[in-house]
Amino acid sequence: MANPKRKISRSKRDMRRANWFDDMKATQLVKCDHCGEQKMPHRVCPSCGYYNGKSVFIPKNA
Ligand SMILES: [Zn+2]
Repeated sequence: MANPKRKISRSKRDMRRANWFDDMKATQLVKCDHCGEQKMPHRVCPSCGYYNGKSVFIPKNA
C-alpha cells in the first residue's frame, strides 16, 4: 500500500548519503543565549552551565 513507487537507484541513494553529514552539522549546534557559545539544542550549555535561564551546574574553569 504505502510504498515508494520506484526503487531508489544506487546513484540517487548515494547522492542522499553524500550530504547527510552536512545536514547534521548544520542542525546540531545553536548559540547559547547566556554566554553565546555554540551548544547542542535542548542541552545544558557546556561552557557556562546554563539551561533555560537557570544555572544547572558551575563550570570548572569559572
Ligand atoms: Zn552558555
